[in-house]
Amino acid sequence: MFSRAPAVATLRSDDDQLHGEVAISGTEGTVVVGKLDGRVALVTGASRGIGAAIAHRLASEGARLGLASRSGDDLGIEDAVARPCDVRDPEALEALVGETTERFGGLDILVVNAGVGAYGPFLDLPDDQLEEMIDVNVKGALYSIRAALPRLLESDSADIVMLASEAGRRGLPFEAVYSASKFAQIGMTRALDHELRESGVRCTNVAPGGVATDFAMGRGRTPDMPELEGMMSPEDVAEVVAFVVTRPRNHRILEVALRPATEASWG
Ligand code: NAP
Repeated sequence: MFSRAPAVATLRSDDDQLHGEVAISGTEGTVVVGKLDGRVALVTGASRGIGAAIAHRLASEGARLGLASRSGDDLGIEDAVARPCDVRDPEALEALVGETTERFGGLDILVVNAGVGAYGPFLDLPDDQLEEMIDVNVKGALYSIRAALPRLLESDSADIVMLASEAGRRGLPFEAVYSASKFAQIGMTRALDHELRESGVRCTNVAPGGVATDFAMGRGRTPDMPELEGMMSPEDVAEVVAFVVTRPRNHRILEVALRPATEASWG
């Protein structure tokens, strides 16, 4: 199904990492054939937290990667195209999409993950934090999709995965602006599903509850808050993203909501 040349992957020593992969022995050693061999993914907000875990997870399945973050970290992933790229800057996104497409011959998966949060009473929220949440989470998501979509439409099997949030499915106290930005993400993904389904681009919202990362640290979360211990790991979320993009092409997952066992579901 996938026409691009697969990455040359070497067998990892840790058998636990061989989820769904097939090891083939050849004259030049053992090659791992992953479920995403031959596919190219671009992950925004890839330098830390959930985005970094997604990048490692997709790479472990054989995907070749473009990685966007302001720091431009390549996470030590061999052959990744990693550049400083602020998702508020459409030109930087277009340059990264262009470089990734040129290096690997196309683009199949976009994971819209870059995001910022701040919690607290609405009137206490500093102006710059309000602006940043809207600019990164809403406009940055729209710019990311606009930059990648022309290339995704050229793929025979494309996916857009939006890292939204439980805060995009229901309003949460002291999260008015963050919640607004995440409802916007869920709405844009659902609207694009209608528009893109027949073109073969699947659109999925992944909506986690609490995940233990740097997210909102010092802006509503603190390193010593007891809730962090019960939260999900970035790898938990990455596993869901890998599941979504490896479904057979006869169906698509519209939305996945996942929450730590320590969090209530609120109905
Ligand atoms: P995180 O640990 O703070 O990581 C955020 C990532 O986004 C970093 O790689 C950061 O890299 C990047 N980033 C921030 N601003 C950016 C910008 N303007 N341009 C490009 N990259 C930018 O947060 P996380 O927990 O992994 O969150 C990832 C996504 O999951 C967010 O959309 C968040 O809303 C969502 N989410 C998180 C949770 C949670 O509890 N953690 C729950 C539900 C949903 P640089 O600093 O290098 O730019």
